[in-house]
Amino acid sequence: MENLKREYEEVLLQINENNNAIEKLKENPEVKRFIALCEKNARLNGKKEKIYEEIRKEEYRNCHHIWVYPKNFFEGHSPMCVKCGLDLDILNNGGEYLLSPEQKAMRNFLKETKELVYYCGLDPVIAFDTDMAKEIYKSIIEENPDISDEEAAKMLEEVIENIEQNKTGVLCLQKTKESNG
Ligand SMILES: [Zn+2]
Repeated sequence: MENLKREYEEVLLQINENNNAIEKLKENPEVKRFIALCEKNARLNGKKEKIYEEIRKEEYRNCHHIWVYPKNFFEGHSPMCVKCGLDLDILNNGGEYLLSPEQKAMRNFLKETKELVYYCGLDPVIAFDTDMAKEIYKSIIEENPDISDEEAAKMLEEVIENIEQNKTGVLCLQKTKESNG
């Protein structure tokens, strides 16, 4: 016990000495410049996050959504838009502090617009792995850049149906592309 107390006192003393040295360093002009730059960047990072959130919200607002139900839809999960990535499931996600900037933008957007967002865009495509649906949608758009939302949603639905039936995604995707042009 005495040893521990002595060790504790020694650590306190060291911390105190270090703090005094840090305070002295802060008087140095170069260090002052360093601290000022760090503070400036902290403010700029806050501003950057706010602007990023506004950009994402604009994208969610202007998207004519193509919804895909997730596979676990019947366990209470919500659809996601394969075009802009808006994921209604984010509202079921608990912790505010664990969210990425993207998820934070989504959550704030949905909270502000409420259920209205649900009604803009196309009816949901059948249940599927949402990340995979996003990838399939991306390749459909890359192959057919001038396609309408309705056509893209229809193609996506066909590809998903084929995958579900055959479980050979790549082949089905090629087949659908060929049959569509
Ligand atoms: Zn969307």
